[in-house]
Amino acid sequence: MLGLMQDWPLLIHRVIDYAALQHPNRSVVSRSVEGPVHRTTYAHIRKRSLQLAQRLRRDGIGIGDRVATLAWNTARHLESWYGITGVGAIYHTLNPRLFEDQLIYIANHAADRLMFLDLTFVALAEKIADRLPTIERYVILTDAAHMPQTKLKNAIAYEDYIAEADGDFKWVEVDENTAAGMCYTSGTTGHPKGVVYSHRSNILHAMAAAMPDYLSLASRDVVMPVVPLFHANSWSLAFSAPMTGAALVMPGPKLDGASIFSLIEEEGVTMSAAVPTVWLGLLQYLESSGEKLTRLKRVTIGGSACPRAVTEAFETKYGVTVSHAWGMTEMSPLGSFCTPKPETAALTGSALYDLKQKQGFAPFTVDMKITDDNGKILPWDGTTFGRLKVRGPAVSKAYFGLHENILDEEGYFDTGDVATIDENGYMNITDRAKDVIKSGGEWISSIELENLAVGHPDVAEAAVIGIPHPKWDERPLLLIVLKPDRSPTKQDILAFMQGKIAKWWMPDEVVFIPEIPHTATGKISKKTIRDQFKEFRFEG
Ligand code: ADP
Repeated sequence: MLGLMQDWPLLIHRVIDYAALQHPNRSVVSRSVEGPVHRTTYAHIRKRSLQLAQRLRRDGIGIGDRVATLAWNTARHLESWYGITGVGAIYHTLNPRLFEDQLIYIANHAADRLMFLDLTFVALAEKIADRLPTIERYVILTDAAHMPQTKLKNAIAYEDYIAEADGDFKWVEVDENTAAGMCYTSGTTGHPKGVVYSHRSNILHAMAAAMPDYLSLASRDVVMPVVPLFHANSWSLAFSAPMTGAALVMPGPKLDGASIFSLIEEEGVTMSAAVPTVWLGLLQYLESSGEKLTRLKRVTIGGSACPRAVTEAFETKYGVTVSHAWGMTEMSPLGSFCTPKPETAALTGSALYDLKQKQGFAPFTVDMKITDDNGKILPWDGTTFGRLKVRGPAVSKAYFGLHENILDEEGYFDTGDVATIDENGYMNITDRAKDVIKSGGEWISSIELENLAVGHPDVAEAAVIGIPHPKWDERPLLLIVLKPDRSPTKQDILAFMQGKIAKWWMPDEVVFIPEIPHTATGKISKKTIRDQFKEFRFEG
């Protein structure tokens, strides 16, 4: 017997329909690429995305077509996602920080038909357009007044493009399992791989992520996604904010500490989400300017391990609650959040910050397990570490155009991370499997050493890699970027770390460097560092 409930497929247009009906005047504020702060509402965004869907249809774009976006977080970019999915097509976010060859590979592999791009990226697109044969038209996310001279194929200003439609359009109804979005993983080995989200997976993921123990969103919130729309679905915020009626503040192209700070204060941002490097920038700005955060209540920090010093500074100096999150592009991307359960709610002081170093527990819709290399399940005791595997309705089962099986016999996807899980279900990433340092048959977590080093008051950023060692296989090398005008010695740094970790975890050498290379998603690029230090050997 089937249930007797209505057939109401989980389609993305329902999110903006809902927001426009229940929260029509909620603001969506953007720092525009042109400069000024721009204000709109969910009701307007819905109207304009209907115009866009209608206009796309006229260009022959429909179910299954890929439309690339190369853009910062702004209302226009958000609107384009709803317009594109509303005609049954697929938004395909391109990360502008990728190398040109990678962008070309990705756009061609996905066979994108249109590209929506910011003014910032016109020069880049012009440079590579000859090698993007599938793209039929470039829509520049601006108005006629700011439209540059360009030879890009069929180029048009977005405002002119959507003005050619009146918005009298019905969303295209598709099966909820239809593809809605695409995002390629940065591919530290081999080519980038295409992750394909469905309408259903995006909606279930956003609903799970919005719950109180996770992003905890409500219509009283003002949410600033600093995490880009092109970085793994902006951690659901393009859907979970309108779904809950939370207002949005889109930071556009300026992600430095001072710019983020002024938007938070001026727009009354209550909640924000970004990778640790962004928050390091904000905290450094606060330290040097003496400014205080008066409006912000919560931040979600993920994408790479959040240094303890960052969590402590937010909570103790500025009264902002930190929730450490973990996830990956293949998981839509959120997989866990570190927030209190009754079992941990009483923790205070350093025990609390020990807990907050962990990546936390999975929401409903994410099953987790840790296994050894043979697939044997390992216990949740907080010390046994193994390969972290996940499954759920918003976890990938395959990559676009590749036929290899990526799931184990129980349907779990191997994240490539090594982790422990404790009795209360809190998961803690030890390292990426390929970054962990193998010393004398035991493992040293590069993440833990980095977090500790960043706690030194003179250190701006730290990275640790394993260097081949004749006796121990590998030993840790610590690379440090100092804050301006500081000059501690290697011994000062090591003395700071001494006693806080096992003796045999202590780095064999410390090297001060001017800059640490980052990946396109703002993470420490271990691959680049390993290349730079491939000839390095410890003395003696
Ligand atoms: P990319 O490598 O392209 O940036 P992802 O964003 O999908 O792609 O990266 C996912 C990986 O990032 C995870 O598998 C994990 O190694 C790392 N990661 C994400 N969040 C955290 C976190 N809070 N702590 C430690 N590692 C994290």
